[in-house]
Amino acid sequence: MSRKLNEHNQKYSHPSVQALLAEYPQQSDPKKIIVNLAQEKRRVALKYGWEGPAYCPLTFCSLFGISCQEANHEIGSDGRIFPREGGKALIEYRGDRPEERIRFTIFHEFVHTLFPDFCTYGVRHHNLRSTLSDAEKQFERLCDKGAAELLLPTEDFLRDLDSSESFSFEELLALRARYGASIDACCIRTAELERELSYAFMFLSVNPEEPDVMTVRYSAKTSQFRTYIPNGLKVPLNSVAFDALRLQHGGCTQFVQETLWMGKGSRTFWVRAMRLDDVVGMPDYPRVLLQLSPKKEITRPLKSQPDLFYRS
Ligand SMILES: [Zn+2]
Repeated sequence: MSRKLNEHNQKYSHPSVQALLAEYPQQSDPKKIIVNLAQEKRRVALKYGWEGPAYCPLTFCSLFGISCQEANHEIGSDGRIFPREGGKALIEYRGDRPEERIRFTIFHEFVHTLFPDFCTYGVRHHNLRSTLSDAEKQFERLCDKGAAELLLPTEDFLRDLDSSESFSFEELLALRARYGASIDACCIRTAELERELSYAFMFLSVNPEEPDVMTVRYSAKTSQFRTYIPNGLKVPLNSVAFDALRLQHGGCTQFVQETLWMGKGSRTFWVRAMRLDDVVGMPDYPRVLLQLSPKKEITRPLKSQPDLFYRS
């Protein structure tokens, strides 16, 4: 076995990820491979008249001969996929989940079919993260990556990011509506695709037994935001995050300066908070979104190209 393959086997131990790398030996990053494959399928679907945003996952799946079926009984997860003969598949999804979540789940399940060994594996479940091994988590994250590309395509989303004026919560909510995606997915995608600006998002949960403690459940930051944000980080009691908790869903606070203790020292940022929707049956789901920036204004530097049209 070549050295390259050996390194791959150590880094990516899931058999499906190894099968993917073996299928595309000239590439070494499974994320890039899966995004490319998702983009290829997207191009095919667009040729068939698939339109968006918002992009419909049901129409998309039907274009590739994959059936989707709503299930309102316990299926062990938000979604699952059954391989069928001839490379086809059946996706089952919980119809009683929020619509934006259903859309992501169906795309996630579809991405499983992009792995070359798809037909050889049994039923796959989405969203049983706590019981998965590290290798399986890595594999499932690749499917999330592909799903994000189909739900929030780089091509469209970058254009929207470029025209964003202040990266405010209002703009984020508009993106959510435009793409039919969750606020989490929009924040993660925004942070991933942003190249120039420095800002981060923290998703904060409240422990039901300790209502005075709000901690980072997960976060997303742009490549320019240099501070590491550990999961489990506590926000101070005087944070606007607690003010947001008392607001109606979707309510936002002003941008203010706050100091957070991160690891060995304290860091001061401009922060604003938004109250997130409650998700029924998931009390530990993040309830507040905090946006952090080293500067008071999050604005793109003025482009050097002159405006072609004079406005009076
Ligand atoms: Zn999955």
